Amino acid sequence: MEIKPKRLFSIEHARSLDKNDPIPDRRSDFHLPVIDGKEVLYFTGNSLGLQPKTAKQAIKTELDDWAQWGVEGHFHAQNPWVSYHEKLAKGLANLVGAKEHEVVAMNALTVNLHLLLVSFYVPQGRRTKIICEAKAFPSDQYALASQIRFHGGDPDTDLIAISPRPGATCIEEEDIEKAIEAHANELALVMIGGVHYFTGQLMDMKRITRAAHAVGAHCGFDLAHAMGNIPMQLHDWGVDFACWCSYKYLNSGPGAVAGAFIHEKHVGREDIPRFDGWWGHDAKRRFLMEPNFESMKTAEAWQMSNAPVLNMAVHAASLEMFLESRIDQLREKSKRLTAYMEAGIQHVAEEVGFRAELITPTDPERRGCQLSLAAHGFGKSLFEALTKAGVISDWREPNVIRMAPVPLYNTFEDIAAFLAIFKDCTEAMSTE
Ligand SMILES: *Cc1c(COP(=O)(O)O)cnc(C)c1O
Repeated sequence: MEIKPKRLFSIEHARSLDKNDPIPDRRSDFHLPVIDGKEVLYFTGNSLGLQPKTAKQAIKTELDDWAQWGVEGHFHAQNPWVSYHEKLAKGLANLVGAKEHEVVAMNALTVNLHLLLVSFYVPQGRRTKIICEAKAFPSDQYALASQIRFHGGDPDTDLIAISPRPGATCIEEEDIEKAIEAHANELALVMIGGVHYFTGQLMDMKRITRAAHAVGAHCGFDLAHAMGNIPMQLHDWGVDFACWCSYKYLNSGPGAVAGAFIHEKHVGREDIPRFDGWWGHDAKRRFLMEPNFESMKTAEAWQMSNAPVLNMAVHAASLEMFLESRIDQLREKSKRLTAYMEAGIQHVAEEVGFRAELITPTDPERRGCQLSLAAHGFGKSLFEALTKAGVISDWREPNVIRMAPVPLYNTFEDIAAFLAIFKDCTEAMSTE
């Protein structure tokens, strides 16, 4: 029996969808923000994930151990700080589809991107070019352009950005492949966002990696919007390197420690450049304080400094939740939530009488949680009206509202409540 839209997007029906979903949400394990005395509808887990309720205790444990042990906590804390980062490898490897010795939690995202470019963007002879996606996240554009200049190149000629086709909003993998082939002998690196921050498009990373390798170029991905959003198999896909942050879908807190993946085939190599620090030195001999650098034979070789334990404590608690909830299951639930929101937006547009353009791919296999809505006709005031009504989404110039129903804590009911507000706001603005 087909359900009429009016009922499909009602709060009652949404509640029954929540109740009957095979994968229960874990909303009660998170703090939902209360703004102006009202719990908000939070759809910005793609920007800053919510705080897991385990976060406070995780930090407190380390603070207590610091208070009790001082420097001795490096060895005597419940989770000895000297090897603290090792606790994170299992959860990270699980999310990106890697072996534990291929991942490491360290630094911040853009810092890691630079450190990996040091190793994997090594222009030689004619091979000086980098292919990236058009309108990549600004920090990535700055990083790539400054690396090219650092090597004496010119970003105007060495940085090739692949755009969507005329009239389209997303990029065809075929066009990336064609560019790779066209620049085959001049290409040093392909570096793409796994999920595009603006459109929410999920790239076929396996396919892009294969194309890059076919012409002898390295291939890496920025996983800022992919990590904790979609399952990946970086090891099997043969990806050379990747980096990510942990404060978006990974819920590890503002500015929390980032991470990196370096494929096993490069781990332990001494013939590629790398910037070294003492935490990349062989752990067994690290405290002998010898002048000569002996690298770890794992991704930890790229690690420079000792672990930021207080913020890693939250990261560890968060990764634990992902291991429990399983990324493949979350992905299935995520597809249902996002499809429901997408259909609901289109339904409201039909009822109110405007054209809703979602610039995110409609194919669930080509996107993660996020939907990006072009605010044609309404402009930024639609975003402002939503915010005023208690919907936390975000605005990206020139005209896009991004929303991400996150399977760990967003519900069908959240979406139905949003749709009612969305209808009120667009209706009010249409009759003004
Ligand atoms: C969020 C995001 C960043 C942010 O970089 P930080 O170094 O963590 O400040 C960079 N790149 C992409 C693609 C992002 O989505």
